[in-house]
Amino acid sequence: MAELIVLLGPPGAGKGTQAKVLSQKLGLAHISSGDLFRDHLQRKTELGTLAQGYMQRGELVPDDVTIRMIRERMREEDCRKGAILDGFPRTLPQAEALDKFLADSKLGIVRKAPYIKVDPQVLVNRLSGRWSCRAGGHVYHEKFNPPKSAGICDLDGSELYQREDDKAETVANRIRVYFEQTAPLIEYYRRKNVLAEIDGARPIEDVTRDLLASVG
Ligand code: ADP
Ligand code: AMP
Repeated sequence: MAELIVLLGPPGAGKGTQAKVLSQKLGLAHISSGDLFRDHLQRKTELGTLAQGYMQRGELVPDDVTIRMIRERMREEDCRKGAILDGFPRTLPQAEALDKFLADSKLGIVRKAPYIKVDPQVLVNRLSGRWSCRAGGHVYHEKFNPPKSAGICDLDGSELYQREDDKAETVANRIRVYFEQTAPLIEYYRRKNVLAEIDGARPIEDVTRDLLASVG
């Protein structure tokens, strides 16, 4: 049975950064719902067109389409050993749908839900300096984790860009939406005895070490 790791934490906590490292170290697939939506957007699919407005406003894409997209992704071959979920679930109905899908399909269980804790005032600085890679979703920060050459991904040489929804106005809304709709998942996973609280306000390598210890 495959093992899933659900990364929790506000936008800018470091979920994507850590998911990339953990996926490599643990040999698990990395599923980022945000990256999947951005890929649909770029390919101008029907789902991308539907998601676009919500993403631009910093709101959540409706649960039904999000859940369907993740279910399809989890059935892919590279998830057989397990996966790291980054950005999903983000609402209680999504978390319940994930549990139901796992029970019905017998595809796996949620083994751990590490909650990467970072104070809201730190998030704005993190997101305003974030640069993301077009090809592989790798993330950098102009001060805290700069690429070797400005504007180019160290790992795959693709172009780095700043996300539209990392603008200050949209970030404020995303953080508000997080506290209203996603933060209740901390209690949801605590009750299931899989929550691990991780101090995310430290250097990237230290956070990785604690995450590895929590899922080990
Ligand atoms: P999330 O996926 O949770 O939204 P990211 O992994 O994209 O967060 O990180 C947001 C920004 O913060 C990126 O620019 C990243 O380089 C930077 N970052 C991530 N972890 C840390 C850390 N521990 N300390 C400082 N900056 C960090
Ligand atoms: P992220 O890359 O995780 O910061 O997500 C970017 C945007 O994609 C979010 O602000 C939402 O609009 C959308 N999104 C990502 N994941 C979800 C999800 N699980 N549920 C609803 N919307 C999502």
